[in-house]
Amino acid sequence: MNADRPLIALEGIGRRYEGKRGAPVIALHSVSLKLYAGEFVCITGPSGSGKTTLMNILGCLDRPDGGTYSFAGHEVHRLSPDGMAWLRLNALGFVFQNYNLLGSVTARENVEMPGVYAGLAPSERRTRALGLLAALGLMERGGHRAAALSGGEQQRVSIARAMMNRALVILADEPTGALDKVSGHEVLRLLEQLAANGHTVILITHNADIAARGTRQIHLLDGRVISDSGAVYRAESVVARKELSLVPIGTVSFFARLAEYFRSALAAIRGNLLRARRWRVALTVSSIVLGVWTVVTMLTIAEGTYRYTLSQLSTLGADQVEVAPLRRENELAVALTLEDALAIAQEVSNVRSVVPRIDQLLPVRYGSNSTEAIVEGYAAIVIRPRADDHTPQVEHGQFITRWNNENRHQVAVIGWQIQDDLIPPGVDPVGQYVMVGDLPFLVVGVL
Ligand code: ADP
Ligand code: MG
Repeated sequence: MNADRPLIALEGIGRRYEGKRGAPVIALHSVSLKLYAGEFVCITGPSGSGKTTLMNILGCLDRPDGGTYSFAGHEVHRLSPDGMAWLRLNALGFVFQNYNLLGSVTARENVEMPGVYAGLAPSERRTRALGLLAALGLMERGGHRAAALSGGEQQRVSIARAMMNRALVILADEPTGALDKVSGHEVLRLLEQLAANGHTVILITHNADIAARGTRQIHLLDGRVISDSGAVYRAESVVARKELSLVPIGTVSFFARLAEYFRSALAAIRGNLLRARRWRVALTVSSIVLGVWTVVTMLTIAEGTYRYTLSQLSTLGADQVEVAPLRRENELAVALTLEDALAIAQEVSNVRSVVPRIDQLLPVRYGSNSTEAIVEGYAAIVIRPRADDHTPQVEHGQFITRWNNENRHQVAVIGWQIQDDLIPPGVDPVGQYVMVGDLPFLVVGVL
């Protein structure tokens, strides 16, 4: 491949958003840029100047309203969503300020994740992930849970993850923003090395000292490129070594199916929002998003699109999302664990509380009376408490408290139907023991 040929060529790229009261916000005005393999490009500019918008377009997370984008000769602005997904998965790597690792799985498993979606064989994935970790100085850390690593180590793991599918381009939005000086330095050194090896590194920063380490500085103001130091370094393109074919592969149909599933789920939620009362909406959201959400979350974190899908959900007005394992035909669902709940609390940025729940149909007995009931167990992990947080209303007695939970008290709140079925008239259920399955529970309240 001709080394003079840019890897990325943007021509007249524009992007406008619908602003408040209908007035459009022009985030990018006709931006034209040519970026080459081996460049370490630092994009600077004040807040609101369009850096993130440009990054999202470069990263195939967003489409321009006008202009052309060519990537290794492919016309990205004409690609289908599947084609864009293919490029994200196979040619682009994302590094975020807050790492976006899955804290409860190991560093190696985090690195492997994009390989899972690309359909790499497990042994190949593993070998490649371990090799990347070793190259980034994390050989000893592969088996540690990501959450147990330092910030600098987590960011290096996220760089390894970005490299898993041999990304041609690494997109990094303030990658050192959360790191101390020494770890930040280390991360920048790694990015420099990647560029020196022929990858194109595109980094957004507010920090002039960091920007100075790039081989090229591009400054944005009000959606325009107001200065560009120009390409000074062009490595022999790594594109030559990588077959970039956009022929649909197995992964694409997986994406397509998933996207379709997700789209129809959203359409159904939207339909229900119009009809249903608020509490019904929560239930409806639960029942529709079942199973899809975990997959989507995992997938989009790996791809770098998860903020996008989360914001789509929240713009629908849904404020509760239920995560449940996918139950396929003739297959039993695998239970999610408390660990999973903690991972969601950690990983998904705008969550207020996570309420792990387990429910099961169980026999319930009092004396010689027995019935069956759907027994629900809850534990709340409140991340951002709100003034209007309240526990469910009980008609009599009290609801289960945090103190009960933390002390593992075997206490229960029963519905009035259970009271009618089990407890003789005239007996106050509060203070009585009922057998739930084989265990005695003290009734503390009636709903
Ligand atoms: P930067 O990353 O440099 O801070 P952005 O690309 O995030 O800038 O934003 C550029 C401009 O576009 C800003 O005026 C911002 O308010 C606006 N903008 C960004 N995203 C949206 C959006 N989803 N809806 C409306 N306006 C947006
Ligand atoms: Mg930004």
